[in-house]
Amino acid sequence: MSPPNYRGRLAPSPTGLLHIGHARTFWLASQRAIERGGTLILRNEDLDPQRSRAEFVRAMIEDLQWLGIHWQEGPDCGGAFGPYSQSERRTHYLDAWRRLRDGGFIYPCTCSRKDLAQAASAPNDSDDEPIYPGRCRGRTDGVSFAEPAGMNWRFRVPENERVEFHDLNVGGQCYIGGRDFGDFLVWRRDDVPAYQLAVVVDDAAMRVTEVVRGADLLKSTARQILLLRALGHSVPEYFHCELVRDSAGIRLAKRSDALSIRRLRERGMSPKAVLEAVRHASMHTGVYEP
Ligand SMILES: [Zn+2]
Repeated sequence: MSPPNYRGRLAPSPTGLLHIGHARTFWLASQRAIERGGTLILRNEDLDPQRSRAEFVRAMIEDLQWLGIHWQEGPDCGGAFGPYSQSERRTHYLDAWRRLRDGGFIYPCTCSRKDLAQAASAPNDSDDEPIYPGRCRGRTDGVSFAEPAGMNWRFRVPENERVEFHDLNVGGQCYIGGRDFGDFLVWRRDDVPAYQLAVVVDDAAMRVTEVVRGADLLKSTARQILLLRALGHSVPEYFHCELVRDSAGIRLAKRSDALSIRRLRERGMSPKAVLEAVRHASMHTGVYEP
């Protein structure tokens, strides 16, 4: 039996319409919470002011409700650990930034895009960011900054550190610092907290016990475990789902408008049929053919 205090989360970004890949991940997340008598949180990951749109927040809530996925805490219904939209949680991220700065875990990086492009080694896979070459890594003046604004801030990943975790779906994972991933961003030059920092801060503050998400984030989990440790938080359980691909083997992105939940619904598919198709088609092969 799992402990009764299971807390899971759905964490979509309102930068486009949800597609069937999201439907599958979120359905699995909701099933796991229900099976464990737990609480499910909807967290609106609207950190990026350039790309997030209010209409997509409304659409994601409607589409999830249409699918029959229910949550107990979220931007629409409140809860004890709110606010549940990342754009309203800046003070939490700033507090974490200060702690990382004081602990010497992060440093300011003034490399331009051009510097990075010239020095970059090719990433191991197309989804991932190139490994940071380390030009600013020796800087020790981070503590003299009162605010993060105006430059990039990176986490100093210990060279050759093994980050291991057991994923409840895909099994044992091991990533090596400096080889599989390099010093990653925690705060962006345009004064927006980076994805990795926000997720870690929110998962800890919202007392998330299990993270269910797509397997494209496995390597990010290694980064996030380093951040969790640096901030003194416990590490949750992880359940990474296989990604849904189309019949050509291409990963669904939000731009696959034809496979958005909204379009399938407009074409007359029922929520049950959408979930059935996704569950049936992708559980083993990861392929969905409409
Ligand atoms: Zn730099």
